[in-house]
Amino acid sequence: MRGRGDRLEAALAERGLDRMLVTDLTNVRYLTGFTGTNGAAVCGPGLRVFLTDFRYTERAAAEVSGWETVTVTGDWLAGIAERLTGKVGFEDDHVSVRSLTKLQEKLPEGVEAVAAGGAVEALRRVKDAEELAAIAAASKLADAALAATVEEGFVGKTERAVAEAFEGHVRAGGGTLSFDTIVAAGPDGAQPHAEPGPKVIGEGELIVFDMGAKLDGYCSDGTRTYATGDPGEEGRRVYETVLAAQQASLEAIRPGEKGEDVDGAARKVIADAGHGEHFGHGLGHGVGLDIHEGPRLSPRSDDVLAVNEVVTVEPGIYLAGKLGVRIEDLVVVTDDGLRNLSSLPKELTYVD
Ligand code: ZN
Ligand code: ZN
Repeated sequence: MRGRGDRLEAALAERGLDRMLVTDLTNVRYLTGFTGTNGAAVCGPGLRVFLTDFRYTERAAAEVSGWETVTVTGDWLAGIAERLTGKVGFEDDHVSVRSLTKLQEKLPEGVEAVAAGGAVEALRRVKDAEELAAIAAASKLADAALAATVEEGFVGKTERAVAEAFEGHVRAGGGTLSFDTIVAAGPDGAQPHAEPGPKVIGEGELIVFDMGAKLDGYCSDGTRTYATGDPGEEGRRVYETVLAAQQASLEAIRPGEKGEDVDGAARKVIADAGHGEHFGHGLGHGVGLDIHEGPRLSPRSDDVLAVNEVVTVEPGIYLAGKLGVRIEDLVVVTDDGLRNLSSLPKELTYVD
């Protein structure tokens, strides 16, 4: 994790900060490796301090490397405050007003707290080799679990039972879910965030299956839409449109490309097919320790893609009361384009 602290130190220099206080636990984990529920990190030029309490001293010894571990025995905020000097960035997007007020009461003379939320999240966008390996492994596990679930068939089962079967396969493979699985059959597929319910899956329906696994803290995310028999002409046409839209965006992905433009490539294909109003969400998002992180691929995104960012590409068409289709791949941005971590076939697949 040493390299990550170095990248944060460089980012602090750019922002004119002397110290950064990191309290968001996902960011703390990213920097130090610590997975417990109480910890904070203080970073500065040549300074790497990780603070926790006595409950986690042993865990920190096992997990944290490249950071000096301090066990705070008395007042937690006072223990943090005494390690701060000069201009201190804090995570204003995670720290409550109450905690900030309390911390400010304990700051030594001359220490100034400066809002610096998003500093660590910005670093997290670009993955290192260890992270890429973890995400690829999570994606592989999820794809294998989905393939096994498909093999067992959908027709006659409830959406919920199929979602539970998927979870069973993920757990058998040593992972957990990275988010609540979506299994949405027929008209349910028209809701992009449908919860799997008691609906029994019938024949001739399209089933949106959005799923992911988590391994070593890292998430995967992927969607396939299956058919239980012929979904009819409209269903087939919508499917082909979404697939062509996804292909257009995948071809647009490369370093330096704007998130807005990658989104636009798929959006144009969908609009040209007359479904512009039926694609109501952004094209994709970054994935890492969190299931949704930067960068964003959407019509309102200012993000520009960089090598080793990991993003989803997930266009969809949703026809209220009828059907939905979404196809989602998880890809790594590379020097000359992308590496696709999603391995399952994308031509319309029929499931029993
Ligand atoms: Zn998804
Ligand atoms: Zn997604």
